Amino acid sequence: MSDDSIERRTYEVVVVGGGPAGMTAGLYATRLGHSTAVVGRGGGRAAMMRDVHNLLGVTEDTSGNEYLETGREQLESYGCDVVRDFVSSVDETDDGRFRVCGADAEFVADAVVLATGFDDARPEPPLPRTGRGLHYCLHCDAYMFVDEPVYVMGHGDSAATVAAIMLNFTDEVDLLTRGAEPTWSDETETMLANHPIDVVHADVTGVRNGDDGWLEALEFADDVGPRPTGSQTESGDGSVREYKGGFAMYGSEYNNGLATDLGCAVNDDGTVAVDDHGRTSVDGVYAVGDLTPGHNQVPVALGEGAKAGIAIHWELREFPREADEIEPAGLVRSEEVPGIPDALLEQAVEHHTYD
Ligand SMILES: Cc1cc2nc3c(=O)[nH]c(=O)nc-3n(C[C@H](O)[C@H](O)[C@H](O)COP(=O)(O)OP(=O)(O)OC[C@H]3O[C@@H](n4cnc5c(N)ncnc54)[C@H](O)[C@@H]3O)c2cc1C
Repeated sequence: MSDDSIERRTYEVVVVGGGPAGMTAGLYATRLGHSTAVVGRGGGRAAMMRDVHNLLGVTEDTSGNEYLETGREQLESYGCDVVRDFVSSVDETDDGRFRVCGADAEFVADAVVLATGFDDARPEPPLPRTGRGLHYCLHCDAYMFVDEPVYVMGHGDSAATVAAIMLNFTDEVDLLTRGAEPTWSDETETMLANHPIDVVHADVTGVRNGDDGWLEALEFADDVGPRPTGSQTESGDGSVREYKGGFAMYGSEYNNGLATDLGCAVNDDGTVAVDDHGRTSVDGVYAVGDLTPGHNQVPVALGEGAKAGIAIHWELREFPREADEIEPAGLVRSEEVPGIPDALLEQAVEHHTYD
């Protein structure tokens, strides 16, 4: 496809990434009267939620994809363009705006929100099914494992910490290094030695699931013996242990390439550095959700998206005109208000359902 054949669209706000954080930034920007597009390739962490937890008003029989689809319909009802595309680059234009390049279209915007999240690094198979014994979100899923035998896979500090946190929920916690050399600190080693966590080094060679697809037990390459704590009954086979589920802790691969290309400051762990309103170190570029520091939870992502959307509105809209602007710009005349472009005004009025 030649450059000329690529469709070019202009907006005030373009959001990259259509997860909960990006769609909320898009929702606020749209409903605060800005022409807005949310450009996302689909998938992501929210789409992996088998059942949504911790989200007030959304019950557990809702899947991540159902939740995202409701969000998309909501955005479109207000006139936001929700576009399926992969964004390969974002750069600043000569006039201080941003060019967002997708495979099918190019978008020019006054402000850009990066909401591209991260990917969980996955351990090697064999593995239980995601959401049916293999989990990536402690605050979402620990509740399911109260008083159940659990594992944590990994060999770093974060895996050891999550194993210790699971002791708040159950007395049967194994830390499975799967033969990898531990990289945790001496302090972590001491912590592990002083908590009833069984560190198992043998690799996992098989997974036993029940008829409902939920994990029942893991098979190990060597005889790992009976679990020293908890209530597990002896199966007679030392290379099998029963588990209800567990967590894989192999790190996060942050989708921060667009941010680094733009020159945004990035923290040592790969998150994009932001202030309290999602502003990055580059004017006009915002970052929200799992891409930024903080708890990786849908409600947190929603809050960050909302704050960025409001901050963008303050940045892009004129009123109230500050005292130092009155002098050069003059008093605000009635013909100048309302400060919303005509097309968006019509769109908003059309959406009203007062009758
Ligand atoms: C298995 C699992 C279960 C979870 N369960 C829960 C739960 O029950 N409750 C809860 O509160 N939290 C849960 N979480 C955490 C929650 O999913 C995340 O905190 C939340 O989705 C973060 O939202 P986000 O918009 O920042 O990122 P994401 O949801 O990951 O969305 C980012 C989007 O950006 C897209 N993207 C990335 N790069 C590009 C690009 N270059 N161009 C276009 N698009 C791009 C991605 O494809 C993705 O669609 C769970 C996470 C996992 C992995």
